[in-house]
Amino acid sequence: MSEKIIVIGESRDNVLRNVTFEAIAAAKKVNGDAEVVGVLCGADDLGTQAQEMIYYGADRVVTVKNEKLATYTSDGYGQAVLSVIEDENPDGIIMGHTAIGKDLTPKIASKLEAGLISDAVDIEVDGDEVVFTRPIYSGKAFEKKVISEGLVFATVRPNNIAALDRDESRTGDVQDKTVEISDLRTVIKEVLRKATDGVDLSEAKVVVAGGRGVKSADGFKPLYELAEVLGGAVGASRGACDADYCDYSLQIGQTGKVVTPDLYIAVGISGAIQHLAGMSNSKVIVAINKDPEANIFNVADYGIVGDLFEIVPLLTEEIKAL
Ligand code: FAD
Repeated sequence: MSEKIIVIGESRDNVLRNVTFEAIAAAKKVNGDAEVVGVLCGADDLGTQAQEMIYYGADRVVTVKNEKLATYTSDGYGQAVLSVIEDENPDGIIMGHTAIGKDLTPKIASKLEAGLISDAVDIEVDGDEVVFTRPIYSGKAFEKKVISEGLVFATVRPNNIAALDRDESRTGDVQDKTVEISDLRTVIKEVLRKATDGVDLSEAKVVVAGGRGVKSADGFKPLYELAEVLGGAVGASRGACDADYCDYSLQIGQTGKVVTPDLYIAVGISGAIQHLAGMSNSKVIVAINKDPEANIFNVADYGIVGDLFEIVPLLTEEIKAL
């Protein structure tokens, strides 16, 4: 990856997700001198988002507007992005390791017979080599991958590579590209959304996660209060989801979401290996558990042994009083 790197932007409700800006920073880490070309797809006007990508470091942005791109499908976005790649002939392509990134990049990479380094948490340059670090064995170890030759796709895990500061003095061209999208094999008839509390769990800087120790759906209320005062999101163990205390969309772990917040507060969670796979790379981990032998304390930076129903409301009050 060197001279030209494409960064595929991802948005929700026409607002770019932070991981797009982190992917731009990742491209700059690969090669600070490379031309970084943003790519945006959608059915609405993409000008504002394109401008944001430039403020965060993209040199130029190509937008593909088409009514068939109103909702993500790997088919539609695949055709659009492939067409831009054919025009641009980049040395590398980077996007977020999100549900869309995990779906789209292998599809296009396989079509182009290109390599793919997924879920990178760090990128370093060592002499002539670009070294990507990625977790393996459910986060128990890390491997380092080096690109030997050819076109390479990479996805970056949200919240690991810091975005550049937003700078409105940065300028760059926005080019609208017309792509004929053939009839989609997948037709999205309706998108049903769950009501959320505003903060996206995958990108939250603070996560308060509850486990089976929370004991009921009502037991999650103090966790929501703590998350609110910290400006964070609520997550859960599979134990809590299986027990119907909360929705599976909150599940963190090997078969749930992978999060890397600045602060992860595990409340009434034992710390099973499958749960750790989704949160052990959090920057600071606080565990609240009444069992001093609970495995979660082995990965925690700070541990509080005690009853969560006493500790969580106290924490909320103390933080409110700050
Ligand atoms: P428990 O293990 O029951 O722990 C509850 C904890 O709460 C205990 O440590 C207890 O001491 C504490 N507690 C109880 N009462 C209180 C109190 N009043 N105050 C303080 N502490 C209290 N799990 C995941 O989380 N995510 C996954 O993605 C996932 N994927 C899986 C995939 C596979 C293939 C398999 C086999 C399992 C998977 N699991 C996953 C399940 C995992 O193995 C555990 O069963 C699950 O994480 C346990 O959830 P828990 O910690 O909430 O419950």
